[in-house]
Amino acid sequence: MSIPLQQVARIGAYAVKQQIKGGKYPLVLMLEPLLRCNLACPGCGKIDYPDAILNRRLSYDQCMEAIDECGAPAVSIAGGEPLLHRDMPQIVQGYIDRKKFVILCTNALLLKKKIDDYQPSSFFTWSIHLDGDRQMHDHAVDQDGTYDVAIEAIELAKAKGFRVQVNCTVFDGANADRLAGFFDDMEKLGVEITISPGYAYERAADQTHFLQRERTKTFFRDVFRKGKGGKAWTFTNSPLFLDFLAGNRSYECTPWSMPLRTVFGWQKPCYLIGEGYVPTFSELMEGTDWNDYGVGKYEKCANCMVHCGFEGTAAADSMKRPLEFMKVAMKGVRTEGPMAPDIDISNQRMAEDVHSLHVEREMEKIKIEDPEGYRRATRAA
Ligand code: SF4
Ligand code: SF4
Repeated sequence: MSIPLQQVARIGAYAVKQQIKGGKYPLVLMLEPLLRCNLACPGCGKIDYPDAILNRRLSYDQCMEAIDECGAPAVSIAGGEPLLHRDMPQIVQGYIDRKKFVILCTNALLLKKKIDDYQPSSFFTWSIHLDGDRQMHDHAVDQDGTYDVAIEAIELAKAKGFRVQVNCTVFDGANADRLAGFFDDMEKLGVEITISPGYAYERAADQTHFLQRERTKTFFRDVFRKGKGGKAWTFTNSPLFLDFLAGNRSYECTPWSMPLRTVFGWQKPCYLIGEGYVPTFSELMEGTDWNDYGVGKYEKCANCMVHCGFEGTAAADSMKRPLEFMKVAMKGVRTEGPMAPDIDISNQRMAEDVHSLHVEREMEKIKIEDPEGYRRATRAA
Protein backbone atom coordinates (compact mmCIF):
# COMPACT_ATOMS: atom_id res chain seq x y z
CA MET A 1 0.00 0.00 0.00
CA SER A 2 1.75 3.14 -1.16
CA ILE A 3 -0.93 5.74 -0.51
CA PRO A 4 0.89 8.41 1.55
CA LEU A 5 0.43 8.15 5.29
CA GLN A 6 -0.62 11.79 5.53
CA GLN A 7 -3.52 11.16 3.15
CA VAL A 8 -4.60 7.96 4.89
CA ALA A 9 -4.44 9.68 8.29
CA ARG A 10 -6.35 12.83 7.27
CA ILE A 11 -9.08 11.09 5.29
CA GLY A 12 -9.29 8.27 7.87
CA ALA A 13 -9.69 10.74 10.75
CA TYR A 14 -12.39 12.62 8.83
CA ALA A 15 -14.27 9.39 8.04
CA VAL A 16 -14.11 8.12 11.64
CA LYS A 17 -15.42 11.48 12.91
CA GLN A 18 -18.30 11.42 10.42
CA GLN A 19 -19.06 7.79 11.17
CA ILE A 20 -19.34 8.59 14.89
CA LYS A 21 -21.60 11.57 14.12
CA GLY A 22 -23.80 9.25 12.02
CA GLY A 23 -25.69 10.15 8.87
CA LYS A 24 -24.56 10.49 5.28
CA TYR A 25 -21.29 12.22 4.42
CA PRO A 26 -19.14 12.81 1.32
CA LEU A 27 -15.65 11.35 1.07
CA VAL A 28 -14.60 12.70 -2.32
CA LEU A 29 -16.11 15.59 -4.25
CA MET A 30 -16.40 14.67 -7.91
CA LEU A 31 -16.01 17.83 -9.95
CA GLU A 32 -16.73 18.29 -13.63
CA PRO A 33 -15.83 21.93 -14.28
CA LEU A 34 -16.45 21.47 -18.02
CA LEU A 35 -17.74 18.78 -20.35
CA ARG A 36 -15.66 19.67 -23.42
CA CYS A 37 -12.95 17.14 -24.30
CA ASN A 38 -10.16 16.84 -26.86
CA LEU A 39 -10.96 13.16 -27.37
CA ALA A 40 -14.22 11.59 -28.53
CA CYS A 41 -14.25 8.13 -26.95
CA PRO A 42 -17.10 5.98 -28.29
CA GLY A 43 -19.99 5.85 -25.85
CA CYS A 44 -18.67 8.67 -23.63
CA GLY A 45 -21.72 10.12 -21.92
CA LYS A 46 -19.99 13.40 -21.07
CA ILE A 47 -19.31 14.93 -24.47
CA ASP A 48 -22.61 14.28 -26.18
CA TYR A 49 -24.11 17.75 -25.59
CA PRO A 50 -24.81 20.80 -27.75
CA ASP A 51 -21.94 23.27 -28.09
CA ALA A 52 -23.60 25.84 -25.83
CA ILE A 53 -23.36 23.31 -22.97
CA LEU A 54 -19.87 22.10 -23.91
CA ASN A 55 -18.75 25.75 -23.75
CA ARG A 56 -19.91 26.08 -20.12
CA ARG A 57 -17.26 26.25 -17.40
CA LEU A 58 -17.49 26.24 -13.62
CA SER A 59 -15.67 29.35 -12.38
CA TYR A 60 -12.91 29.30 -9.77
CA ASP A 61 -15.42 30.62 -7.21
CA GLN A 62 -17.98 27.94 -8.05
CA CYS A 63 -15.31 25.24 -7.69
CA MET A 64 -14.28 26.57 -4.25
CA GLU A 65 -17.91 26.93 -3.13
CA ALA A 66 -18.49 23.27 -4.02
CA ILE A 67 -15.78 22.01 -1.64
CA ASP A 68 -16.58 24.56 1.07
CA GLU A 69 -20.21 23.51 0.92
CA CYS A 70 -19.75 19.75 1.01
CA GLY A 71 -16.64 19.61 3.22
CA ALA A 72 -15.15 16.47 1.62
CA PRO A 73 -11.42 15.97 2.35
CA ALA A 74 -10.60 15.18 -1.29
CA VAL A 75 -11.67 16.24 -4.76
CA SER A 76 -11.43 14.36 -8.02
CA ILE A 77 -11.47 16.72 -11.00
CA ALA A 78 -12.65 15.17 -14.24
CA GLY A 79 -14.72 16.32 -17.18
CA GLY A 80 -14.46 16.51 -20.19
CA GLU A 81 -10.77 17.26 -20.16
CA PRO A 82 -9.86 19.47 -17.17
CA LEU A 83 -6.65 20.71 -18.79
CA LEU A 84 -8.81 22.58 -21.34
CA HIS A 85 -10.09 24.79 -18.47
CA ARG A 86 -7.87 27.86 -18.47
CA ASP A 87 -8.25 28.45 -14.69
CA MET A 88 -7.35 24.87 -13.75
CA PRO A 89 -3.95 25.67 -12.13
CA GLN A 90 -5.65 28.28 -9.92
CA ILE A 91 -8.48 25.88 -9.06
CA VAL A 92 -6.00 23.14 -8.07
CA GLN A 93 -4.03 25.61 -5.96
CA GLY A 94 -7.24 26.84 -4.29
CA TYR A 95 -7.99 23.30 -3.14
CA ILE A 96 -4.42 22.66 -1.99
CA ASP A 97 -4.54 25.92 0.02
CA ARG A 98 -7.61 24.47 1.74
CA LYS A 99 -5.62 21.30 2.49
CA LYS A 100 -7.81 19.16 0.25
CA PHE A 101 -6.33 16.21 -1.64
CA VAL A 102 -6.65 16.86 -5.35
CA ILE A 103 -6.80 14.14 -7.99
CA LEU A 104 -6.60 15.73 -11.43
CA CYS A 105 -7.87 13.30 -14.06
CA THR A 106 -6.61 13.78 -17.58
CA ASN A 107 -6.28 11.90 -20.84
CA ALA A 108 -2.71 13.33 -20.82
CA LEU A 109 -2.81 14.74 -24.35
CA LEU A 110 -2.04 18.24 -23.01
CA LEU A 111 -0.03 17.25 -19.98
CA LYS A 112 3.43 17.83 -21.44
CA LYS A 113 2.43 21.34 -22.55
CA LYS A 114 0.77 22.29 -19.23
CA ILE A 115 2.78 20.44 -16.61
CA ASP A 116 4.83 23.43 -15.52
CA ASP A 117 1.62 25.25 -14.51
CA TYR A 118 1.52 22.82 -11.55
CA GLN A 119 3.88 22.02 -8.68
CA PRO A 120 4.37 18.70 -6.91
CA SER A 121 2.63 18.58 -3.54
CA SER A 122 1.66 15.87 -1.08
CA PHE A 123 -1.91 17.11 -1.70
CA PHE A 124 -1.76 16.67 -5.48
CA THR A 125 -1.96 13.60 -7.77
CA TRP A 126 -2.13 13.30 -11.54
CA SER A 127 -4.60 10.59 -12.54
CA ILE A 128 -3.98 9.47 -16.10
CA HIS A 129 -6.83 7.88 -18.05
CA LEU A 130 -5.45 4.57 -19.33
CA ASP A 131 -7.85 1.75 -20.13
CA GLY A 132 -5.31 -1.04 -20.55
CA ASP A 133 -2.28 -1.73 -22.74
CA ARG A 134 -1.52 0.08 -26.03
CA GLN A 135 -4.05 -1.82 -28.11
CA MET A 136 -6.78 -1.84 -25.45
CA HIS A 137 -6.45 1.85 -24.64
CA ASP A 138 -6.12 3.18 -28.19
CA HIS A 139 -9.15 1.09 -29.12
CA ALA A 140 -11.14 2.34 -26.07
CA VAL A 141 -10.48 6.01 -26.91
CA ASP A 142 -10.63 5.41 -30.67
CA GLN A 143 -7.34 7.18 -31.40
CA ASP A 144 -3.99 5.60 -32.20
CA GLY A 145 -0.99 6.92 -30.31
CA THR A 146 -2.82 8.01 -27.13
CA TYR A 147 -1.30 5.18 -25.04
CA ASP A 148 2.23 6.27 -25.96
CA VAL A 149 1.41 9.92 -25.17
CA ALA A 150 0.03 8.87 -21.78
CA ILE A 151 3.09 6.74 -20.92
CA GLU A 152 5.42 9.59 -21.90
CA ALA A 153 3.35 11.96 -19.71
CA ILE A 154 3.53 9.54 -16.76
CA GLU A 155 7.31 9.32 -17.05
CA LEU A 156 7.63 13.10 -17.33
CA ALA A 157 5.37 13.74 -14.33
CA LYS A 158 7.24 11.19 -12.21
CA ALA A 159 10.60 12.67 -13.23
CA LYS A 160 9.36 16.07 -12.07
CA GLY A 161 8.43 14.64 -8.67
CA PHE A 162 4.64 14.37 -9.00
CA ARG A 163 2.56 11.59 -7.56
CA VAL A 164 0.93 9.74 -10.46
CA GLN A 165 -1.79 7.11 -10.74
CA VAL A 166 -3.73 5.67 -13.65
CA ASN A 167 -7.48 5.30 -13.75
CA CYS A 168 -8.47 2.21 -15.64
CA THR A 169 -12.04 1.47 -16.65
CA VAL A 170 -12.66 -2.14 -17.57
CA PHE A 171 -15.23 -2.76 -20.27
CA ASP A 172 -17.19 -5.85 -21.19
CA GLY A 173 -15.08 -8.08 -23.42
CA ALA A 174 -11.72 -7.21 -21.81
CA ASN A 175 -9.13 -9.99 -21.63
CA ALA A 176 -7.97 -10.96 -18.13
CA ASP A 177 -4.42 -11.95 -19.23
CA ARG A 178 -3.87 -8.67 -21.02
CA LEU A 179 -5.26 -6.59 -18.18
CA ALA A 180 -3.00 -8.41 -15.71
CA GLY A 181 -0.05 -7.73 -18.06
CA PHE A 182 -0.99 -4.05 -18.16
CA PHE A 183 -1.06 -3.94 -14.35
CA ASP A 184 2.42 -5.53 -14.31
CA ASP A 185 3.61 -2.76 -16.63
CA MET A 186 2.14 -0.08 -14.37
CA GLU A 187 3.79 -1.66 -11.34
CA LYS A 188 7.14 -1.51 -13.16
CA LEU A 189 6.51 2.16 -13.95
CA GLY A 190 5.83 2.75 -10.23
CA VAL A 191 2.28 4.06 -10.58
CA GLU A 192 -0.81 3.19 -8.60
CA ILE A 193 -3.99 1.95 -10.27
CA THR A 194 -7.58 3.00 -9.70
CA ILE A 195 -9.77 0.35 -11.22
CA SER A 196 -13.47 0.28 -11.94
CA PRO A 197 -15.81 -1.66 -14.17
CA GLY A 198 -17.43 0.54 -16.80
CA TYR A 199 -20.98 1.68 -16.21
CA ALA A 200 -23.41 0.73 -18.96
CA TYR A 201 -27.11 1.14 -18.96
CA GLU A 202 -29.02 -0.59 -21.68
CA ARG A 203 -32.66 -1.52 -21.91
CA ALA A 204 -32.34 -5.24 -21.47
CA ALA A 205 -34.08 -8.10 -19.81
CA ASP A 206 -33.39 -8.56 -16.11
CA GLN A 207 -31.68 -11.86 -16.74
CA THR A 208 -29.16 -10.13 -18.99
CA HIS A 209 -28.37 -7.65 -16.23
CA PHE A 210 -27.87 -10.49 -13.81
CA LEU A 211 -25.48 -12.27 -16.15
CA GLN A 212 -23.53 -9.07 -16.62
CA ARG A 213 -22.93 -8.73 -12.89
CA GLU A 214 -21.87 -12.38 -12.72
CA ARG A 215 -19.52 -11.84 -15.63
CA THR A 216 -17.96 -8.80 -13.98
CA LYS A 217 -17.22 -10.69 -10.77
CA THR A 218 -15.85 -13.74 -12.58
CA PHE A 219 -13.68 -11.49 -14.72
CA PHE A 220 -12.17 -9.71 -11.71
CA ARG A 221 -11.51 -13.05 -10.02
CA ASP A 222 -9.64 -14.13 -13.18
CA VAL A 223 -7.58 -10.93 -13.14
CA PHE A 224 -6.77 -10.96 -9.41
CA ARG A 225 -5.81 -14.64 -9.58
CA LYS A 226 -3.01 -13.68 -11.95
CA GLY A 227 -1.62 -11.16 -9.46
CA LYS A 228 -1.58 -12.88 -6.03
CA GLY A 229 -5.17 -11.90 -5.25
CA GLY A 230 -4.37 -8.37 -6.47
CA LYS A 231 -1.40 -8.01 -4.09
CA ALA A 232 1.06 -7.96 -6.98
CA TRP A 233 -0.20 -4.49 -7.90
CA THR A 234 -0.71 -1.22 -6.06
CA PHE A 235 -4.31 -0.12 -6.14
CA THR A 236 -5.72 3.12 -4.77
CA ASN A 237 -9.01 1.25 -4.31
CA SER A 238 -9.71 -0.09 -0.85
CA PRO A 239 -9.15 -3.84 -0.37
CA LEU A 240 -12.81 -4.40 0.48
CA PHE A 241 -13.92 -2.71 -2.76
CA LEU A 242 -11.64 -5.11 -4.68
CA ASP A 243 -13.15 -7.96 -2.67
CA PHE A 244 -16.60 -6.69 -3.70
CA LEU A 245 -15.56 -6.67 -7.39
CA ALA A 246 -14.53 -10.31 -7.03
CA GLY A 247 -18.00 -11.21 -5.76
CA ASN A 248 -17.03 -11.81 -2.14
CA ARG A 249 -19.26 -9.07 -0.72
CA SER A 250 -22.78 -7.94 -1.35
CA TYR A 251 -22.85 -4.15 -1.04
CA GLU A 252 -25.46 -1.47 -1.53
CA CYS A 253 -24.16 1.75 -3.05
CA THR A 254 -23.62 4.96 -1.10
CA PRO A 255 -23.80 7.52 -3.92
CA TRP A 256 -23.62 10.52 -1.56
CA SER A 257 -20.06 9.51 -0.62
CA MET A 258 -18.82 10.79 -4.00
CA PRO A 259 -21.26 13.56 -4.98
CA LEU A 260 -20.93 15.23 -8.37
CA ARG A 261 -20.89 18.98 -8.96
CA THR A 262 -21.13 19.59 -12.68
CA VAL A 263 -21.91 22.56 -14.92
CA PHE A 264 -25.62 21.76 -14.48
CA GLY A 265 -25.44 21.89 -10.66
CA TRP A 266 -25.28 19.04 -8.11
CA GLN A 267 -26.30 15.87 -9.88
CA LYS A 268 -28.99 13.61 -8.38
CA PRO A 269 -28.43 10.90 -7.33
CA CYS A 270 -24.82 10.13 -8.33
CA TYR A 271 -21.88 10.54 -10.68
CA LEU A 272 -23.25 7.96 -13.12
CA ILE A 273 -26.86 8.87 -13.67
CA GLY A 274 -28.31 12.37 -13.86
CA GLU A 275 -31.94 12.28 -12.77
CA GLY A 276 -32.06 15.92 -11.71
CA TYR A 277 -29.89 18.91 -10.73
CA VAL A 278 -30.02 21.21 -7.73
CA PRO A 279 -28.05 24.37 -6.96
CA THR A 280 -26.75 23.45 -3.49
CA PHE A 281 -25.18 20.46 -1.78
CA SER A 282 -27.71 20.58 1.05
CA GLU A 283 -30.55 20.35 -1.49
CA LEU A 284 -28.84 17.30 -2.97
CA MET A 285 -28.50 15.61 0.41
CA GLU A 286 -31.89 16.53 1.78
CA GLY A 287 -33.93 16.63 -1.43
CA THR A 288 -32.91 13.28 -2.92
CA ASP A 289 -35.00 10.25 -2.13
CA TRP A 290 -32.03 7.92 -1.78
CA ASN A 291 -34.31 4.91 -1.38
CA ASP A 292 -35.34 5.31 -5.02
CA TYR A 293 -31.85 4.42 -6.23
CA GLY A 294 -29.44 1.51 -6.07
CA VAL A 295 -29.17 -2.06 -7.30
CA GLY A 296 -32.56 -3.78 -6.97
CA LYS A 297 -34.39 -0.45 -6.78
CA TYR A 298 -33.94 1.18 -10.17
CA GLU A 299 -33.39 -0.34 -13.60
CA LYS A 300 -30.52 2.02 -14.48
CA CYS A 301 -28.62 0.73 -11.42
CA ALA A 302 -28.90 -2.98 -12.19
CA ASN A 303 -25.37 -3.41 -13.60
CA CYS A 304 -23.57 -0.88 -11.47
CA MET A 305 -20.47 -1.93 -9.54
CA VAL A 306 -18.61 1.32 -10.16
CA HIS A 307 -16.12 2.68 -7.64
CA CYS A 308 -17.85 6.05 -7.20
CA GLY A 309 -20.95 4.22 -5.96
CA PHE A 310 -19.34 1.51 -3.86
CA GLU A 311 -15.96 2.77 -2.58
CA GLY A 312 -17.76 4.74 0.12
CA THR A 313 -19.62 1.58 1.14
CA ALA A 314 -16.33 -0.34 1.29
CA ALA A 315 -14.71 2.45 3.34
CA ALA A 316 -17.55 2.41 5.88
CA ASP A 317 -17.40 -1.40 6.00
CA SER A 318 -13.63 -1.24 6.64
CA MET A 319 -14.31 0.77 9.77
CA LYS A 320 -17.01 -1.64 10.91
CA ARG A 321 -14.92 -4.75 10.12
CA PRO A 322 -11.26 -3.79 10.55
CA LEU A 323 -10.16 -7.44 10.86
CA GLU A 324 -11.71 -8.35 7.52
CA PHE A 325 -10.10 -5.27 5.99
CA MET A 326 -6.69 -6.35 7.35
CA LYS A 327 -7.19 -9.92 6.18
CA VAL A 328 -7.91 -8.90 2.57
CA ALA A 329 -5.16 -6.25 2.63
CA MET A 330 -2.59 -8.81 3.80
CA LYS A 331 -3.71 -12.01 2.05
CA GLY A 332 -5.26 -10.55 -1.09
CA VAL A 333 -8.68 -11.00 -2.62
CA ARG A 334 -10.22 -14.47 -2.50
CA THR A 335 -10.57 -15.76 -6.06
CA GLU A 336 -12.04 -19.24 -5.40
CA GLY A 337 -15.11 -20.56 -3.63
CA PRO A 338 -18.72 -19.41 -3.50
CA MET A 339 -19.66 -15.80 -4.17
CA ALA A 340 -21.79 -13.68 -1.86
CA PRO A 341 -25.47 -13.68 -2.88
CA ASP A 342 -26.35 -10.75 -5.10
CA ILE A 343 -29.20 -8.30 -4.63
CA ASP A 344 -32.55 -9.35 -6.12
CA ILE A 345 -33.50 -7.01 -8.98
CA SER A 346 -36.89 -8.47 -9.78
CA ASN A 347 -38.78 -5.60 -8.15
CA GLN A 348 -36.75 -2.68 -9.45
CA ARG A 349 -38.67 0.27 -10.93
CA MET A 350 -38.37 0.98 -14.63
CA ALA A 351 -35.87 3.51 -15.97
CA GLU A 352 -37.08 7.04 -16.70
CA ASP A 353 -35.80 8.89 -19.76
CA VAL A 354 -34.91 12.35 -18.45
CA HIS A 355 -31.78 13.21 -20.46
CA SER A 356 -33.37 15.41 -23.16
CA LEU A 357 -35.38 17.31 -20.54
CA HIS A 358 -32.16 18.31 -18.71
CA VAL A 359 -30.54 19.38 -21.97
CA GLU A 360 -33.56 21.55 -22.86
CA ARG A 361 -33.61 23.16 -19.40
CA GLU A 362 -29.88 23.90 -19.51
CA MET A 363 -30.16 25.41 -22.98
CA GLU A 364 -32.98 27.69 -21.75
CA LYS A 365 -30.81 28.73 -18.80
CA ILE A 366 -27.84 29.52 -21.05
CA LYS A 367 -30.11 31.53 -23.38
CA ILE A 368 -31.02 33.78 -20.43
CA GLU A 369 -27.66 33.92 -18.62
CA ASP A 370 -25.36 34.17 -21.64
CA PRO A 371 -27.37 35.20 -24.73
CA GLU A 372 -24.28 36.05 -26.79
CA GLY A 373 -22.59 32.70 -25.98
CA TYR A 374 -25.84 30.91 -26.77
CA ARG A 375 -26.13 32.67 -30.16
CA ARG A 376 -22.50 31.95 -31.03
CA ALA A 377 -22.79 28.26 -30.11
CA THR A 378 -26.09 27.64 -31.84
CA ARG A 379 -24.99 29.60 -34.94
CA ALA A 380 -21.82 27.46 -35.14
CA ALA A 381 -23.96 24.32 -34.88
S1 SF4 B 1 -11.24 11.23 -22.41
FE1 SF4 B 1 -12.89 10.95 -20.93
S2 SF4 B 1 -14.22 12.75 -21.16
FE2 SF4 B 1 -12.87 12.66 -22.97
S3 SF4 B 1 -14.11 11.60 -24.51
FE3 SF4 B 1 -12.84 10.07 -23.46
S4 SF4 B 1 -14.12 9.25 -21.78
FE4 SF4 B 1 -15.05 11.19 -22.51
S1 SF4 C 1 -26.17 1.79 -8.13
FE1 SF4 C 1 -27.31 3.47 -9.15
S2 SF4 C 1 -27.41 5.13 -7.64
FE2 SF4 C 1 -25.85 3.67 -6.97
S3 SF4 C 1 -23.95 4.52 -7.77
FE3 SF4 C 1 -24.67 3.01 -9.26
S4 SF4 C 1 -25.90 4.17 -10.75
FE4 SF4 C 1 -25.60 5.48 -8.94
